[in-house]
Amino acid sequence: MPAERLSKAKGLRLDDPAIRLSGVGPDLMRRLGRLGVETIGDLLCLVPLRYEDRTEARRIGALRPGEKVLVEGGIELAEVAFGRRRSLLVRLADGTGGITLRFFHFSRQQQAGLARGTRLRAFGEVRAGPTGLEMVHPEYRAIAANDTGPETTLTPVYPTTEGLQQGRLRRLIGQALAVQGDIEDYLDGLLDGDWPRLTDALRLLHQPPRDSDIRVLESRRHPGQRRIALEELIAQRLRLKQSRALEATERAPVIAPDPALGARFAKALPFALTRAQSRVVAEVTGDLALERPMHRLLQGDVGSGKTVVAAFAMYLAAGSGLQAALMAPTELLAEQHAATLRRWFAPLGIDVVLLTGAMPAAARRDALAAIASGEARLVVGTHVLFQEAVSFDRLALIVVDEQHRFGVEQRLALKEKGAHGDRMPHQLTMTATPIPRTLAMTAYAGLDCSVIDELPAGREPVQTIALPRGKRPSLVERVAAHCKTGAQAYWVCPLIEESEHIDAQAAEALHAELRTALPGTRIGLVHGRLRSDARDALMRSFKTGEIDLLVATTVIEVGVDVPNASLMIVEGAERLGLAQLHQLRGRVGRGQRRSSCVLLYEPGLSALARERIEIMRRTTDGFVIAEKDLELRGPGEVLGTRQTGLLELKVADLQQDADLLPLVVEISDRLEREHQERLAPLVRRWIKSRADYAKV
Ligand code: ADP
Ligand code: MG
Repeated sequence: MPAERLSKAKGLRLDDPAIRLSGVGPDLMRRLGRLGVETIGDLLCLVPLRYEDRTEARRIGALRPGEKVLVEGGIELAEVAFGRRRSLLVRLADGTGGITLRFFHFSRQQQAGLARGTRLRAFGEVRAGPTGLEMVHPEYRAIAANDTGPETTLTPVYPTTEGLQQGRLRRLIGQALAVQGDIEDYLDGLLDGDWPRLTDALRLLHQPPRDSDIRVLESRRHPGQRRIALEELIAQRLRLKQSRALEATERAPVIAPDPALGARFAKALPFALTRAQSRVVAEVTGDLALERPMHRLLQGDVGSGKTVVAAFAMYLAAGSGLQAALMAPTELLAEQHAATLRRWFAPLGIDVVLLTGAMPAAARRDALAAIASGEARLVVGTHVLFQEAVSFDRLALIVVDEQHRFGVEQRLALKEKGAHGDRMPHQLTMTATPIPRTLAMTAYAGLDCSVIDELPAGREPVQTIALPRGKRPSLVERVAAHCKTGAQAYWVCPLIEESEHIDAQAAEALHAELRTALPGTRIGLVHGRLRSDARDALMRSFKTGEIDLLVATTVIEVGVDVPNASLMIVEGAERLGLAQLHQLRGRVGRGQRRSSCVLLYEPGLSALARERIEIMRRTTDGFVIAEKDLELRGPGEVLGTRQTGLLELKVADLQQDADLLPLVVEISDRLEREHQERLAPLVRRWIKSRADYAKV
């Protein structure tokens, strides 16, 4: 570490704002804020998703596909190849063998730095390429004269945010670790001697010694991680107890059941409710009629028809002269929900108002005015619904869709918006993620649950096949034939990096390629970088059938509904987790057509990727897949977020750490009795306050 950095670190304290670290300005502070980081100590509470071993360069001649490794060698050849896609190929050799580094996106400057003769250290996943082993878009560094060798500890990979690179985050956390003094230990005196000190546990988390077992670290069974998990679970329990105590005193507006409204709604729908839907509607109706706020979780597999249940509850609220809001995790979904509700409610003469961040100023002003006056009875939007500018007249019901994308605190903020005198809004939360049994049994339950365990009639299970990338040309022809029959299809392009920007570029390349290959097919493109009006227009033309084939990034993952689409192609399926694959596949099989899903993979699958694809081929049952997902998570999971559907946990895992729960209960009770002063700072460390989220 350079000397000036050390000197700046001197005199810093862990509760100082992170902006005091060297290299951190207001811009970076804002990005850190999105990760919940304000103080230097907060940085230490960021928990790695996984670890990589970059401590030793491996012999290139002995590499196998599927491994993620560090290699070191000299560049023998660097050239731009013009195949189906232009790419920069760099041949790296170390005397035991050679490997090709392949770049689809590269700058002139990057190309100049990769000249013949340069010595490089590169880290990436080994794959079987057309001419032998290769790495696609590895991380790399030229070896300079003053090189100090590979890393000396394992390299953590953190969940990060757009515009904040892993390397930068790692350096900041390194600075935080160098700050003198121990982080405040709120469990001090409450744990027996077998538990590691918090400071030691954190160092292990961020800089595991090179001989640590990555599998143990990633499965989070190490005593250091268990120490942190314990603290997090205690903080969560304290937080939930606080809010539960508050909720017990809350009252809600009574929304009386009205059979006439029910009949009218049923008549307006283009289908009859399934038995499961009717049962859940009755449960929700019962809750709404009470004077205490509903806290109900509605769980149902993708395609089971949760939206209509929400719509009915919203209709009842509107019928009582009150407002209801539906919050979706993305703009695309909010727009789609608004369109669906408008279609269902048009015959009933009820308007639906949409509010998203991307709306033009004038439309936004109108929407805000209608929401404030109460003229807008039914409101659909994204997280902007709980921002300061939004004020409701009489919000009586909040529906949160695909709730695992929102934090607990975001929901609390929205609930506060609905406070009217002493009345709190009812809440319905919809999720396709099944709740693990352990969770339902623990202190963390406390929500009422409804399950839609039946798909609408006439649905046939989606047939799933897995194909190696070599079969791609025949697939292109198959898509053309498919679209000629009047059916539609999705083609999801591979996830390249955890960056919307690069993914958007890749989607554009795929779109261009398919346009050339399939001149007779109408092809559209959506990705996360598209403006929301453009994306909306595109989705609309896909829905109305003006587009046959939709090329997309994984932005369509959640909730998009086009019943006529019956073929889903997922490229780079080996890079996606089970939950994502299940969500993507759930986009088809929604209508009367027989649907299929093709998982295209890069040969040289890791054992884990092979198992995931096998499970997808074997079953379409969301519960089975979710259980397997829990089982397989850990080593090798690329993009896993640790969500249980109810709590957002950073370190702890309710399945794995279930054995800690008795201790969690015991210690949180003792904290409440003996150390009142520790409660607030402990909760704040793990759970960022509402105010922080509102700023995001
Ligand atoms: P999800 O539970 O995944 O949110 P949706 O609410 O989007 O599912 O419903 C999936 C599709 O099924 C939609 O096109 C919806 O209109 C349709 N649908 C819902 N309920 C029924 C039903 N009872 N009969 C026929 N189609 C239904
Ligand atoms: Mg849905």
